[in-house]
Amino acid sequence: MMSQNRLVWTLVSTVIGVSGANLAAAQSVLELAKDVTSIRIESTGQHYTPRQSTTPDGVSRHTSDYTLTVVWEPDAWRAREEWGIHTVYPVFGDLSFTMTYHESFGLTAGQDSRAPSPATRPMSGARIGANFKNLWLTNPLILAAHAEAIPGSEFKIEDRRYQRMMLFAHDTQWSMILDQSNGLPVEITTIEVDPHKGETEHKVIFSDWREVSGVPFPFQVEQFLDDKLLRRETRNSIDVNPGIAPRLLALSDDLQETDESLREWGWSMSHFFLARAGLGAPQDYPETHTVSLLEVGDDIYQVQGGGSSNNLLIVGPDGLAIVDAPWFPERSEAVLRHLAERWPEKPLRYVILTHHHIDHTGGFGGYVQAGATLVTSQDNASFFTNALERAGQTGAAVIAVGQRATLEGIGRPVEVYEVINSHADGTLVAYVPDARVAFVTDLFSPGRPRRGGVEALWTSELVASMKYHGVEVERYVGGHGAGYGHPDDD
Ligand SMILES: [Zn+2]
Repeated sequence: MMSQNRLVWTLVSTVIGVSGANLAAAQSVLELAKDVTSIRIESTGQHYTPRQSTTPDGVSRHTSDYTLTVVWEPDAWRAREEWGIHTVYPVFGDLSFTMTYHESFGLTAGQDSRAPSPATRPMSGARIGANFKNLWLTNPLILAAHAEAIPGSEFKIEDRRYQRMMLFAHDTQWSMILDQSNGLPVEITTIEVDPHKGETEHKVIFSDWREVSGVPFPFQVEQFLDDKLLRRETRNSIDVNPGIAPRLLALSDDLQETDESLREWGWSMSHFFLARAGLGAPQDYPETHTVSLLEVGDDIYQVQGGGSSNNLLIVGPDGLAIVDAPWFPERSEAVLRHLAERWPEKPLRYVILTHHHIDHTGGFGGYVQAGATLVTSQDNASFFTNALERAGQTGAAVIAVGQRATLEGIGRPVEVYEVINSHADGTLVAYVPDARVAFVTDLFSPGRPRRGGVEALWTSELVASMKYHGVEVERYVGGHGAGYGHPDDD
């Protein structure tokens, strides 16, 4: 265990800027942290996903347990992560993979997703940016040693004294809080981008400090987005300058540099990429390149090319209606460009959201910005209107659907039904009665192999709800999968 006294003087003097021997002691620990040229951390932990909760802004969903070995060379911007992930939501499974990455390129080997993938493939820039951000964020003394620090205010909570300081490093502002009783960081917060809400706090809370080679390291780390749990980690061992075989971090020169803007994008919303990876369903690209329309009924199209998530487009004589808004505002902009080219005379009247999960609604602000009326359930209306306000978008027209509603604005009726189910509260299904086509997300995914388990339960809940509403759907089209189908099909 470390010498507490030394740390008290070390960090507090760093913050308060006292002079003499204390300042020298402070500098010596930061110098030691600067001398950490490599580090090896073995951990176990759990991933949580805030936007897969049953109810909007509800308790984060526990998505997986993991084992992780990280090797990191901070100054060299090189790292390797060896992951074993046991997913528990939405399906049980085991994934194991390694990511080896340098500043601008990297390689993933093994299975990091439930979808089939080549044995090795280049890492996306987004993931490289997100991973590096997380290494700095979760190793506060190494960050402090590489940062410019500005002391801030002192404050007290129940007789405990704290000190806030700002760190500036890697073009990013990090806000650190120190506990003055032991001089150690309690938390670091940095502002990241959330696809729903815009600027949002990514906070890391540290505890169980132990000294390794003269540098304090937290052995318990918890991460939060907007105060919702993202990840909880226990470090089982930490080695400083362990003598890493050069080949462990070596990468072939053939690997292509990733796009800098993607690395910055990953850095700016690292929480998102971590949560998706922890779900066994990484989403590492903005999906702006491909917008393809599959006609699934008369003038009704499944909008594909959004990675694993689709929208539905309904074309009426007086305008367009979109159902769901996969992933990111950037994806919505790509879809909108496509619509403007193909139907330049038709305005987008509605964006109908099936439920609040981010893989189907992260881009909803883009459609609202384009003038669409937001159609959501009464359960989810305040979540989305608050998100719009936080993102600086005010004055949106909103229709909050109770059990059912009929939308007339595109000159072709579109019906919306609430579906009570165990996947997400306030789920809606959109239905075009003249074609008997319905769009459903997550509860049933035609064109994707059925997974059984909880998905079979969700499908039975869908069938029961539509029967309750007295709607005889001929074709279901999914927010996942491709084409159309029916639960009664084999
Ligand atoms: Zn969902």
